[in-house]
Amino acid sequence: MEKTNWIGGRPTGSPIFEPNVNPAKLDEVIGHYAWATVEQAAEALAAAREALPGWAASNPQTRSDILRRVGDELHARAEELGALLTREEGKTLREGIGEIRRSAQIFHYASGEPLRNGGECLPGLRDGTTTMVTREPVGVVSLITPWNFPMAVPAWKTAYALAFGNTVVLKPSEATPGCAWELADILHRAGLPAGVFNLVMGDGRTLGPVLVDGADAVSFTGSPPVGRAILERTVARMTKVQLELGGKNPLVVLDDADLDLAADIALQGAFHSAGQRCTATSRIIATRRIHDAFVERLVTRIRAMRVGDPLDAGTDMGPVVNQPQLDKDLRYIAIARDDGAELACGGQRLDANGYFLEPTLFIGTDNTMRINRDEVFGPVASVIPADDLDHAIAIANDSEHALSSGVVTQGLVAAETFRRRSRAGLVMVNAPTAGIDYHVPFGGRSPSGYGGREQGSAAVEFFTEGKTAYINHGVTA
Ligand code: NAD
Repeated sequence: MEKTNWIGGRPTGSPIFEPNVNPAKLDEVIGHYAWATVEQAAEALAAAREALPGWAASNPQTRSDILRRVGDELHARAEELGALLTREEGKTLREGIGEIRRSAQIFHYASGEPLRNGGECLPGLRDGTTTMVTREPVGVVSLITPWNFPMAVPAWKTAYALAFGNTVVLKPSEATPGCAWELADILHRAGLPAGVFNLVMGDGRTLGPVLVDGADAVSFTGSPPVGRAILERTVARMTKVQLELGGKNPLVVLDDADLDLAADIALQGAFHSAGQRCTATSRIIATRRIHDAFVERLVTRIRAMRVGDPLDAGTDMGPVVNQPQLDKDLRYIAIARDDGAELACGGQRLDANGYFLEPTLFIGTDNTMRINRDEVFGPVASVIPADDLDHAIAIANDSEHALSSGVVTQGLVAAETFRRRSRAGLVMVNAPTAGIDYHVPFGGRSPSGYGGREQGSAAVEFFTEGKTAYINHGVTA
């Protein structure tokens, strides 16, 4: 089965088709996906540029209706598309279906934005004048997305970009083109005019520079080094840019925490989706008095996790996404041991016909160790002991990342102190660091995030430009 790019409303082949392989069954090819050439990336940008005036001026009801239909179809096909997502990315079927449903909700929510995109009308300060502040589309936007949320990240960028009248070129991760292809197909069948949405799949290093240089705005989610390279290109051209990058997210467990709740929260945050979430818990900071009792509960839960085929209903954790990610996870497990961390459980690769790794926990670590500095992006977490709340907050904030953080406590004062003093863009109280709502802003502080937040009330900032008009109508009465 060959899947093409979408350029100017047409399925467009390529000299190169690459296999999309199931990380849980390495002999299973899901399909062959076209890798666009740099010329095709330029064609996609040109198609988006040509379609821009019509879409920017389109009736808000038209945009709303199309986005709603996309949400409807995602909802209706959640189980089928969830299985595809699971087969190409490796998260469990429950998580895969959940991600498709979430993507449907995002389209439904964004379908209201064309109708809500108002402005301000203020009296002018000169007699007989009025001022109006309105918002307009930014233009052609390039959306560059990672593999770990292969439907949700393309969905939350695309839905808002289109809602506000922009035209789009989407470049999904080469590791997970399947969901993005389905989204492109659904968008076209929902009635999107030709060229409004274009899909180019393939190698980010060759396509990325073309897509970045040719767009009016770039929204990127992915790794910090690639984000930095994109930032440098966009700064040179003064192009609007939004970056959602890595995390090294701390979860603080205090003396007064409900330890069963804390262990459940840590397990979910660190190991669901095989730890491959930018908001995953990777540093668990436990106060000394409860440290051992908490670790015991967490290790019991980790050992009970069933690792296996993510399509099986009984599976708690599937494989990691691919060989480079598995290699990185194993490398960091070795680094942690070399640096003196104690392995509490896990650490081994399982079943060679898939990229399966045991959920892994280190104890006896400190915040200077590489396992606690660098983003691993796998099912690997570590515990750092702390003296008290102040010490725990200092450790939590001592990081090059500032995406998500959490605290488990029954104390209102401790919870509020943590909420105020945490440097992260997202703060969770008695909840996992990962797992977000779609109707509120999302993102981290620099250098985990740059250029404004995504989703909810924040999306309008990035996907529109403001215009202030002064109207001298001469009417004073
Ligand atoms: P990645 O940076 O390797 O790739 C992301 C995308 O960038 C892919 O589509 C890739 O093809 C493209 N790309 C690669 N080189 C490029 C270049 N030179 N110019 C332009 N585009 C290029 O990231 P990944 O491995 O797919 O995803 C994992 C990373 O994503 C982790 O660091 C994770 O924390 C981060 N992430 C962040 C968030 C967030 O919202 N903060 C969400 C999900 C994932």
